[in-house]
Amino acid sequence: MKIAIRLDDITPGMDWKKFERFRELLDSYDVQPLIGVVPDCRDPKLDIDPPREDFWEYIHALEDSGWVIAMHGCHHLYTTSEGGLFPLNRKSEFAGLSYEEQLALLRHGREIFTAKGIRTDLFMAPSHSYDLNTLRALKETGFHRITDGFGSSPYQWEGMIFYPISFDKNRAVRMEKSDPARATGMHRASPAYAPDAAVTIVTHTNVMSDGEFGFFERLLKNNTENVISYREMLKMPAKPASRADRLKEYWMAAGKRMIVSGLAKLHAGA
Ligand SMILES: [Zn+2]
Repeated sequence: MKIAIRLDDITPGMDWKKFERFRELLDSYDVQPLIGVVPDCRDPKLDIDPPREDFWEYIHALEDSGWVIAMHGCHHLYTTSEGGLFPLNRKSEFAGLSYEEQLALLRHGREIFTAKGIRTDLFMAPSHSYDLNTLRALKETGFHRITDGFGSSPYQWEGMIFYPISFDKNRAVRMEKSDPARATGMHRASPAYAPDAAVTIVTHTNVMSDGEFGFFERLLKNNTENVISYREMLKMPAKPASRADRLKEYWMAAGKRMIVSGLAKLHAGA
């Protein structure tokens, strides 16, 4: 089982102290992750530190050192309450909008990336939510790969290549304490433990706790051979996904959302 790492919400005003702390950790194990860069961030929740003036130069430097860049939405603003085809959340910047509206957002993001010299064909949907119009508009704007979905290896669907993410990192954090080999949330007996299986663990450095930093420290220390750089992930073959695979993935995402929102209500005493 190979494990790659993905960092979401990379913006000029992110929490730079936490980001640098995580970068140093990855550097010490020579692991280069995938980062989701928001081309034109207008989400106030992501404005934590004063915006870094040399942001795009910094991103170029990361790319030069082997980091992989995905376009993470356009403005990172949720304008719909749709979960789309991978309904982990009921909010989206894209799902539910018309094809033309989605195309305009993606074109705007693409123009900014091009102006800043960033070339990528990888897309990361805010809140993981996209629909068929998103996929159509992505292909129209030169994106052919997407970091999302569940599964144990990259797969092809609707003319795109999907790089799956782990089902439950929080569970993985807890399990890792008792059995590091199960850190990805997959059981040893699962086909996901096949040597060619690969999954991406998602994290948001802006909100990373000390506990999560500890999880990644142990993950990197205990799995030096299995944790791979994202460029290695991109070299893995992508198998065609069946309708049944897609259906299973949809219900896993919907089920996870229901469990998470049920727990939140429980905590809120509702
Ligand atoms: Zn995000």
